[in-house]
Amino acid sequence: MPERADRLGAVAREEGLDAVLVTEATNVRYVTGFTGSSGLALVGANLRRFVTDFRYLTQSAEQLDGEWSREIAPDLLEQLVARLPDTAFRLGFDDAHLSVKQHARLAGLLPDTVELVPAGGLVEDLRLVKDAAELERIRAAQRLADAALEDVLQRGLAGRTEQAVALDLEMTMRRLGAQGSSFPPIVAAGGHGALPHAEPRDVVIPEGTLCVIDWGCMLDGYASDCTRTYATSADVDPRDLEVYATVLKAQRAAVEAVRPGPLGKDVDAVAREVIDAAGHAEHFGHGLGHGVGMEVHEGPRLSRQGEVALAPGHVVTVEPGIYVPSQVGVRIEDLVVVTEDGHEVLTSLTKELVTAPRA
Ligand code: ZN
Ligand code: ZN
Repeated sequence: MPERADRLGAVAREEGLDAVLVTEATNVRYVTGFTGSSGLALVGANLRRFVTDFRYLTQSAEQLDGEWSREIAPDLLEQLVARLPDTAFRLGFDDAHLSVKQHARLAGLLPDTVELVPAGGLVEDLRLVKDAAELERIRAAQRLADAALEDVLQRGLAGRTEQAVALDLEMTMRRLGAQGSSFPPIVAAGGHGALPHAEPRDVVIPEGTLCVIDWGCMLDGYASDCTRTYATSADVDPRDLEVYATVLKAQRAAVEAVRPGPLGKDVDAVAREVIDAAGHAEHFGHGLGHGVGMEVHEGPRLSRQGEVALAPGHVVTVEPGIYVPSQVGVRIEDLVVVTEDGHEVLTSLTKELVTAPRA
């Protein structure tokens, strides 16, 4: 990971900082390659210090490359502070993740010459653009999740409970090699599908309705995320089919809009326009999508608040939905990479409405 620490060091300098203290575990992993639960990194233009505790003596030696000065200590913060220069020093800290208590402790340990400067989001900004190795991991995670869903569908939807299908999905992803789910799967039939973050119930999925399934896995430290909505038999209410057709149209239009240049809110508006025109403006209450990487929800946001311009290497979901309370819910979500001249869809499952077999 040497180039990542170099980039962070350069950003720190641009921000007028002598060093950045990286405390959040995912950010530490991104910058150093260390996957343990206890580690701090201090990065400046010519500074690479990493502190962990005794439990990670061997692991950190294996995972960090030679340019890091690696220190083992029972109290990470104390160790870090003890070796700071005693000249004037501007130290950036992660104000988005460091707790008030940790901040107070850090401030108490520091000599007067060190100034603590809020600098949250610097690593997250670097994480927006995925390199080729990261893209390959996300691609592999999505591929595994697609295969798991196809496996689970063969065992049917109607006739099984939502919880049984969700559990089957989690176990199948693990069986196929995933570290686990990137979030608890959503399986929601009929009116329950109108809850965007529905929890699977101990309720049998009926025939003649739609069923929303939203799932993803973690593989090699990277997440996938996908939603498909299935018919549970051939006799679905035409009203629900119309909702499905509208979401699909909005989703396709928004995917086509994914390319370098537009702001997140511009792509969000493309889907929203289709859904508004169909008379469902008030039934699409969430943003169009979010970034995916080491975390299943990260930047950039595709929503009305999305002010980041899409750039090559961004990975985003495109997931419009229509939720008619206690009647029907439909969401269709693809994982999409922004490329130099457009986009690449990582999800391989069809978006045409599929009728799932009965259990
Ligand atoms: Zn999802
Ligand atoms: Zn999502």
